[in-house]
Amino acid sequence: MTVEAFISALNDAGITLTEQQIEQFQRYFELLVEANKQFNLTAITDEKDVYLKHFYDSLTVAIYVKALQHQSSTLIDVGTGAGFPSLPLKIAFPQLKITMVDALQKRVRFLQDVVDTLDLKNVSIVHGRAEDIGQNVAYREQFDFATARALARTSVLAEYTLPFVKVGGALLVMKGAAAEQELADGQQALATLGGTVSSAFDFKLPNGDQRVIQVVDKHKKTPKKYPRQAGTPNKKPIT
Ligand code: SAH
Repeated sequence: MTVEAFISALNDAGITLTEQQIEQFQRYFELLVEANKQFNLTAITDEKDVYLKHFYDSLTVAIYVKALQHQSSTLIDVGTGAGFPSLPLKIAFPQLKITMVDALQKRVRFLQDVVDTLDLKNVSIVHGRAEDIGQNVAYREQFDFATARALARTSVLAEYTLPFVKVGGALLVMKGAAAEQELADGQQALATLGGTVSSAFDFKLPNGDQRVIQVVDKHKKTPKKYPRQAGTPNKKPIT
């Protein structure tokens, strides 16, 4: 997807980027490719691929969950890596208040560099594991939305993310073709952690790749024992 195709696909979805936002995406792309030479951030570095598979793909969540476009919601992105989906969301929808979490120090440093260079406000970057941060009262049940992309299967992802969501908020699950199976396997985890699926959006990226976004409403508090200690959610998913 060329930069022009990116802008035009967003236009079709009712999203208009300013010149400044277009420049911010381009600068982010350059910083990503540059830093990726020093250490591993992403396997995707071709410009067209970055615009499609990172930038556009990240923004699809706001195409379907329109509250992200207009409300100054708080959003936590768990296992954000090089900043996906939260940094494209922040660039396109500057009113969002985002928190990015990653366990790897090098990625956190990269994110801080991007945030400083693009002069993004209301962004907080947290280095650590979701299992630890989810037990910290400063973060627990504080967010309108949680997102995570390519972090873990749904049963595990639920334990990493739902503790951060306030009652009345939602977890936005971004998945590919295995979404339904993962959701079936994760039903028990979602129920245990206080979530229920309220809607799901099935669509294809412009290159034909299948995508699914599932909205999991948080209707009751997560029991205190979750998230369990670091490593346990992945080793012994809630069943
Ligand atoms: N969301 C990004 C990165 C996916 S890779 C994208 O879609 O491109 C998964 C990322 O999650 C890695 O950067 C890894 O360091 C981080 N991660 C894995 N387990 C984690 C955990 N338990 N807590 C916090 N971060 C974690």
